[in-house]
Formats: sequence, structure tokens, C-alpha cells
Amino acid sequence: MANFLGAVIENLFKKPATRPYPFTKREPFKDARGLIKFDGDKCVYCGACSKKCPAAAIRVERAEKALYFEPFKCVTCGFCVEVCPKDAINQEFEYRKPDYSKSIEKYGPSAVPAPAKTEAPPSQA
Ligand code: SF4
Ligand code: SF4
Repeated sequence: MANFLGAVIENLFKKPATRPYPFTKREPFKDARGLIKFDGDKCVYCGACSKKCPAAAIRVERAEKALYFEPFKCVTCGFCVEVCPKDAINQEFEYRKPDYSKSIEKYGPSAVPAPAKTEAPPSQA
């Protein structure tokens, strides 16, 4: 009983062992692999990233000059960043926030609003 009371009193005055998420968020580690972002102006729509992606999260429409990205399929491996010949993909340290819907982002030249959210899944070639 004395041991038990000691633990209770100790826990009352000790710093909590966990962070009070979502009020306090842990900073991502340096070089963590997080969000993928495309630059529609640098992109030449070659499709190399789409071919390399193990999660089939990228679809490139060359004729349309559009790139569709399904962020919730992405496993943040970074293969697309490595393979892009135009340095048009950036991987940030931040992790993707949860969402209520599995949205699709559309990237294109700056004349096209990007990223645009759509609910319709892109057809895989
Ligand atoms: S980081 Fe990996 S899974 Fe995500 S889009 Fe790039 S290649 Fe695909
Ligand atoms: S590899 Fe780079 S340049 Fe090629 S389609 Fe993907 S983002 Fe665009």
C-alpha cells in the first residue's frame, strides 16, 4: 500500500510522460520523409515519377499537362524525388495531416490552379 501511495504522489508531481496532442505537437526530425509537393512549372510531364512510384499514387497526363497525386496512397518513400530529372518534386519534413476524405491533388503549369482537390479517383492506365 505504501508503495502504491508513493507512486500516486510521485505521478501527481512528475512531468507527464506524453505530450498533450494535438495542443503540443512533436517537431518532425531533420531529414524525416514527409509530404510530397510537385512544382507544375518545373515538371515536363515525362511520367518517370509515376513509373517509379510503388504505391501508384501518381498519374501523369502528358497531353493535358497535368499530374494527379493521391496523397493518402503515398508511402513517403521518396523514390519519385530521386528519379525526377527536373527537380520538380519536393519532400518536406512535415507529415500529412489526417483528413475526412481521400482527396486527389492536381498539379499543372501555373495557368492551371494547383493543387486542386477533387473527390473523383483518377483511372489508372
Ligand atoms: S514518395 Fe514514394 S509512394 Fe509517395 S508519391 Fe513518391 S514514389 Fe510514390
Ligand atoms: S518525374 Fe518530375 S518532370 Fe517527370 S512527370 Fe514526374 S514530376 Fe514531372
